Amino acid sequence: MKKGKVVIFSAPSGSGKSTLVHFLMEQDASFGFSVSATSRPPRGAEQHGVDYFFYTPDEFRARIAADEFVEYEEVYPGRFYGTLKSQVEQQLMRQNILFDVDVKGGCNLKKYYGDRALFIFVQAPSIEVLRERLVRRGDTSMEEIERRVSKAEYEMTFSKFADRVIVNDDLVNAKKELMTVVEKFLNE
Ligand code: ADP
Ligand code: 5GP
Repeated sequence: MKKGKVVIFSAPSGSGKSTLVHFLMEQDASFGFSVSATSRPPRGAEQHGVDYFFYTPDEFRARIAADEFVEYEEVYPGRFYGTLKSQVEQQLMRQNILFDVDVKGGCNLKKYYGDRALFIFVQAPSIEVLRERLVRRGDTSMEEIERRVSKAEYEMTFSKFADRVIVNDDLVNAKKELMTVVEKFLNE
């Protein structure tokens, strides 16, 4: 019998999704984080098994062939990301889970989990602000930033599929809104 509930976060890179995911994890101990797999290299202090399972593109493809993913996407050219069945199936028996996935992954997970899932789309006030945030974060090359920003407009069109859009302009307000929305969902 599956017990946990699911909260899915999707957003263009730089919107503040990771910031809000970490905040929710700190505030509500009922959530575990779904650690995804990726074929991109670690960034900053990221650790294998904590932030992601880091695989080479060949290792990632072998896991696709072995049907190890609930969903996966090639989010940027040559950069695969996916949710491992082994991660979520056991975890969901015990607790609620947070997902941080790209917009297509968000739609697929929402379809998969249905009413058991709350799909939250985090939106930056503008593309310009999004670029500035990625530059200020200081861990992504300019080339990679441009790749991410150029995809952001397309990604924003997916907000209509979410249960809830949170505009992350003022962070304090966004955190407040997030807590209200999630508490309501957990109590339903
Ligand atoms: P994402 O996970 O969506 O790529 P991050 O959470 O890493 O985004 O946020 C991108 C950068 O913007 C980080 O340096 C973060 O500290 C900063 N940030 C997040 N929310 C806000 C906000 N409301 N106002 C200003 N800066 C923010
Ligand atoms: P980043 O490289 O900034 O960590 O992540 C890039 C994008 O990949 C983000 O939009 C993030 O949410 C997404 N992503 C991370 N894990 C997964 C996953 O398991 N599946 C999908 N579809 N996207 C993911």
